[in-house]
Amino acid sequence: MAVTIEIDHARTRAKAAAATGQPVVPQAVKGPIRRLKWAILLLTLSINYVTPFLRWDRGANAPDQAVLLDFANGRLYAFFIELWPQDLYLVTGLLVLASTILILTNALGGRLWCGFACPQTVWTDLFLLVERLIEGDRRQRLKNIGTPLTAKRVIEIAAKHAAWLLISVATGGTLIFYFTDAPDLLRGFASGEISATVLTWILVFTGTTYGLAGFAREQVCTFMCPWPRLQGAIWDPEAYTVNYRDYRGEQRTSAKKAAELRLQGKPAGDCVDCGQCVAVCPIGIDIREGPNFACINCGLCVDACDGVMAKLGRPRGLIDYESWKNIERGRRAEPAVNRLVRPKTIGLTAACVALAGVITVAFGARTTASLSVQHDRDPVAVRLSNGSVRNAYTVKLLNKSASPHRYTLSVGGVTAKMAIVGNDALAPIEVAPDASESLRVTLTAPEHVQGDVVFTAREESGAAVLTARDKFVER
Ligand code: SF4
Ligand code: SF4
Repeated sequence: MAVTIEIDHARTRAKAAAATGQPVVPQAVKGPIRRLKWAILLLTLSINYVTPFLRWDRGANAPDQAVLLDFANGRLYAFFIELWPQDLYLVTGLLVLASTILILTNALGGRLWCGFACPQTVWTDLFLLVERLIEGDRRQRLKNIGTPLTAKRVIEIAAKHAAWLLISVATGGTLIFYFTDAPDLLRGFASGEISATVLTWILVFTGTTYGLAGFAREQVCTFMCPWPRLQGAIWDPEAYTVNYRDYRGEQRTSAKKAAELRLQGKPAGDCVDCGQCVAVCPIGIDIREGPNFACINCGLCVDACDGVMAKLGRPRGLIDYESWKNIERGRRAEPAVNRLVRPKTIGLTAACVALAGVITVAFGARTTASLSVQHDRDPVAVRLSNGSVRNAYTVKLLNKSASPHRYTLSVGGVTAKMAIVGNDALAPIEVAPDASESLRVTLTAPEHVQGDVVFTAREESGAAVLTARDKFVER
């Protein structure tokens, strides 16, 4: 049987909610998946708030913050890793690897990232927890909608927004810590000495957190995020996405009627139409209507339905992490087949391993020093009054290490006289730690000389010999 995967029933619900001004108000739920989600929430929030304060000793001339995006100096530090702008290809490789891992998890378990670890989910969960603690669970919050304001309600609303703002400011403040020395900035906060730029970014991050987690919530996952759009291309009927075992749940009926039917030896569906699975859904989906691209695979409806089944003495798993293929098999009364390992997942895993290998080798092959040469473009060559020809170059020596290095520059390939502007004696060039040195170099050769030139920079201790090629041209 062909299946049409719809995003529309979530969209319709969200639109209807927007039209009536009634937001999706998810109910609290208990169960193993909810507990796992709390654990992941705690872990991810801890990582976010603690990481900027971790220290990493890189020597006297480098910052000691373990994770730092130092835009001012064009550096990215992550523990033992230090990336320069020249290493952008490694960052690109890491992004490609992350995307491939995301596609692999999608092939294994659908939008697992969205349901468990995406910052939008984590912060929305936290904001919902605060809302629930202050205003009560779903029933009370629904009752509050549209009722006249009382002193109690004003206090509740003020308390909720104050708590949300506090979390947002803490989030905004923490994100800034990743871009500068965290303890220094914290001292700046304490003494009130923070720059307008820092303050502006904190306000931007605070506003974004408050708006996205407090108000936009499921709208981000349904309408703003590109991932549900991509599901149309990468949705996999063998992935373990959250699905409703309709062959077991239908015809849905009340618990009482179902018990009567069973007593009479007649079939009865396990779904008692209690609506718990819809009530707990943070997106507002009724998963019984079929697979849905907007479903973030958070599994809260699984916990809710398992709780109902436990009370009714029915087996768990009416809603479950199950492949669509197995749902179709179930409809035909065929046994389920587990195909986590299949050509697609093997291929994606191999791609991830290969990419990780290439990135590791490329990272290991990086040197702490480099030499680059750029030929002057306009003019490429100058003819002097004595008939000789001069070419000019910009030669760059880069020292990524924590100690200074001295290099002697020489040139080979064509017979030409080298001169370094400002360094007539061709003395060794010192490059400071974590710095680069740019030199203007000219080569002068008799007429009718042209060809490849090789610049060589020899480190004084002999530890490194760097080379770079270019051309010598007549005109
Ligand atoms: S929670 Fe389970 S029993 Fe209740 S409506 Fe949903 S699927 Fe049916
Ligand atoms: S349908 Fe279930 S798994 Fe999907 S978003 Fe809603 S609660 Fe989460």
